[in-house]
Amino acid sequence: MSLDRKDLEEIVNLVIGQLNEKEALYYCGEKNKYGIFCDMNEAIEKAYTAQKEFFKNYKLDNRRKIIESIREELMKNVELLARLGVEDTGMGRYEDKLKKNKLIIERTPGVEDLNSEVFTGDDGLTLIELSPYGVIGSITPSTNPSETIICNSIGMIAAGNSVVFSPHPGAKNISMKTIELINKGIEKAGGPRNLIVTVNDPSIENAQLMMKHEKIKMIVATGGPGVVKTALSQGKKAIGAGAGNPPVVVDETADIEKAAGDIIAGCSFDNNLPCIAEKEVIVVDSVADYLIFSMNKNNVYHLKDKEKIEKLAGMVIDEKGRINRKFVGKDARVILKAIEVECKSDVRAIIVETEKDHPFVVNELMMPILPIVRVKDIDEAIKLAVEVENRNRHTAIMHSKNIDNLSRFAKEIETTIFVKNAPSFAGLGFGGEGYPTFTIAGPTGEGLTSARSFARKRRCSLVESFSIK
Ligand code: NAD
Repeated sequence: MSLDRKDLEEIVNLVIGQLNEKEALYYCGEKNKYGIFCDMNEAIEKAYTAQKEFFKNYKLDNRRKIIESIREELMKNVELLARLGVEDTGMGRYEDKLKKNKLIIERTPGVEDLNSEVFTGDDGLTLIELSPYGVIGSITPSTNPSETIICNSIGMIAAGNSVVFSPHPGAKNISMKTIELINKGIEKAGGPRNLIVTVNDPSIENAQLMMKHEKIKMIVATGGPGVVKTALSQGKKAIGAGAGNPPVVVDETADIEKAAGDIIAGCSFDNNLPCIAEKEVIVVDSVADYLIFSMNKNNVYHLKDKEKIEKLAGMVIDEKGRINRKFVGKDARVILKAIEVECKSDVRAIIVETEKDHPFVVNELMMPILPIVRVKDIDEAIKLAVEVENRNRHTAIMHSKNIDNLSRFAKEIETTIFVKNAPSFAGLGFGGEGYPTFTIAGPTGEGLTSARSFARKRRCSLVESFSIK
């Protein structure tokens, strides 16, 4: 192969670009003006000073402009964020991360989300205003690293807060890059320095130090059950966005071909990393064969060999139900290769028929492995779906045309998100109505968080005036 001058220039630029990126990522403190500190206490103090200035000197219109500028800066770098997300964590799919980042950059609500309430009457006027908490401590996951930092930053800044992030150590580079870009956006709009900060060595110890710090007035934990439990036991206001294990129920009235396509699209999106993604299918027996037949037309590998199924189960999950992180968010092809099964390069998911208590069904795998369980009828389907969702109150999906069945399932499962006749991601506003977020607070009940979730309600009463009823 011979390289011409243009090829060489491109290679040199790429290498220089990568070196610059690395340099910028590993500076901390004074050398890095984009919110990355060497010490957690220092980061919190800086965020505290920044928030005081922000709340005192910046009007809502300034916040609006700052958020606009953040969106612009992130959108200019959205390919980098998607690429770095995959490279840094070794999980997910570039093209899906691109979609997730774009969605959250464009459509996370800003200042417009902060609606005041008002009471007027003989005794005057009372306002309920949405005011900042101060400094928020936000713990973010490895599965949607940039997306969570972006939606939390926009919502938290819109509500007048500053934020100290404690990202997952396995997503350090992508998290720091996102924080740096957000700060560049803030700077370009004339906003204060250090509104969004972190430390250059994120760890569980640093997260715990952060949660306990007296200047952290609210904790927002997005991750598995461990971090949510820790956050909720700190004795201060906390939002917990925890684990899910979303079941999909398919009854005999569903449009089966559409259901098959939607389920595979949702389950394979970003290799099943989103907490809302379809994790197991429960289908009534009369339509099960047709559903599996239709799924086979959607780039799946149907694993039938009993020995291989056992080998796969032993490989991705241990006897205590612990997930082998090596396979989380990996391509279906990579997972199959590890059990010596070759498949086409466009395979997006592995489907496998199992019993209802199989480890694939009862555990949250976050891999493109989709177990399918046959049941006798809708009663059995709903009962089993409620059981395997494990009262996470996170997400459930149903494909059906029977409104009684749909309503009954929605009522019994009590999830924060319930998607009807669409892929799970419609519940995030992706092909469905409503705003997106990657912090879905089931345990603490805020639901799909937005700016108003990060604000304190304060009452302001003016007696005997301003009522003109
Ligand atoms: P994880 O629980 O391993 O880590 C999440 C964050 O918590 C990381 O920053 C980690 O460093 C920190 N952490 C973990 N244990 C901690 C402890 N004891 N004290 C302090 N910090 C601690 O999760 P992950 O693998 O990065 O993400 C996947 C999990 O998160 C899945 O269970 C998924 O369902 C869930 N999740 C939920 C939502 C939601 O909105 N509800 C969104 C994304 C992910």
